[in-house]
Amino acid sequence: MRRLRTCRFTLTAGRVGRLRIALAVLAGLAGCVTPGGVRPQDFPAPVPVPISPPDTPALVIDRTRVGPLALLDQHVLPGSRARLLWRTGQNYFGADLESPVLIVHGARPGPVLCLVAGVHGDEINGVETVRRVLSEARPEALAGTLIGVPVVNLFGYQRGSRYLPDRRDLNRFFPGSRSGSIASRIAHSFFNAVVRQCDALVDFHTGSFDRANLPQVRADLSRAAVRELARGFGPTVVLHSPGSRGMLRNSAVEVGIPAVTFEAGAPTRLQEDEIGTVAAAIERLMAHLGMTAPISPGLTRPDWGSDQPALFYASRWLRAEHGGLLISEVALGEQVEVGQRLGRIIDPLSDRIHEVRSNLAGRMLGMAENQQVLPGFALYHIGLDSDLRSSPDESEPETDAPEENGSDAREREVSIDPEPEDG
Ligand SMILES: [Zn+2]
Repeated sequence: MRRLRTCRFTLTAGRVGRLRIALAVLAGLAGCVTPGGVRPQDFPAPVPVPISPPDTPALVIDRTRVGPLALLDQHVLPGSRARLLWRTGQNYFGADLESPVLIVHGARPGPVLCLVAGVHGDEINGVETVRRVLSEARPEALAGTLIGVPVVNLFGYQRGSRYLPDRRDLNRFFPGSRSGSIASRIAHSFFNAVVRQCDALVDFHTGSFDRANLPQVRADLSRAAVRELARGFGPTVVLHSPGSRGMLRNSAVEVGIPAVTFEAGAPTRLQEDEIGTVAAAIERLMAHLGMTAPISPGLTRPDWGSDQPALFYASRWLRAEHGGLLISEVALGEQVEVGQRLGRIIDPLSDRIHEVRSNLAGRMLGMAENQQVLPGFALYHIGLDSDLRSSPDESEPETDAPEENGSDAREREVSIDPEPEDG
């Protein structure tokens, strides 16, 4: 659809072998090298990519053409992989910072799926997820293209920090501007150099600040194209979340690229279970998008089991009412009931113990790790049991108004308050 229009080669899937040979000959004649992504002399320069209108009804893929992928002033041949470099800006010494962009360009036509991590530099589960998915993809068997960016916020990644050096959150500055703050410039560069090339985008995150998230897709389910994308992850938890201005996924959706956030685990940790779960969900998504073929002729895809996502249209945070040491008694993914004790907050000086009881019924989508907490600290993020058949438009609007706690003699520890999405 949007890409490869600069390409002179438009062939059908059945002619890919001949295409590769012809391109190799052309490359040789032109004195250029291709699969590794060395700048060829013979290809026309990329032209600006037209922007799709917002609210694209569904992912529409032009399946009639396959050719070299033009990205970051390079061309990558069908059926090959490449490691390109995106210049993210300059460091304190004035030197260019370059972040790897991994490409697996399939031999057959299909969508361009972008997998992006490290927008928050301390959220490293996604960094390994992107590397793993891209390294395991087989270009000769792939229909379409994988573009993987393991680390978008190199400054933050180098320092193990969520933020940029000026304390700005990069995920509030998309699509950015050429002349704004450092966050805005990095966002602008990344959005135009990479994001606009995508047909669909998944942005990997974790909980923030010593909180962990159950692996879950966050998506604006009021958008048809996003809803369709979110369906592709199989039996993954999907939480409806409109997101907020400046987030990468919101900005992508605004220019017609369906995008979701995939949250899994906690920051600063490398969690094998979460990485495996997310990688498997991406594999499901690729199958859903028609990017992966049966292993060999006559064999069908593995039995994936249920295809139904666990949908939540609303969620609430439960916050601490006392300061102290939090010790939880629940686990991520657990179903909790009204009145259930979720944990205790222990005052280490007075030896008082405050119970934290739920005044909600639902599933534990995110929670604080055991730690010191102050009153107001967001402890438990609960996906609400509700009529899951209802549409997002019918779900409860998020509100700052705390629910009445009542005068329970047991000193309920919680109030209800939405937490801004930490993606
Ligand atoms: Zn994040």
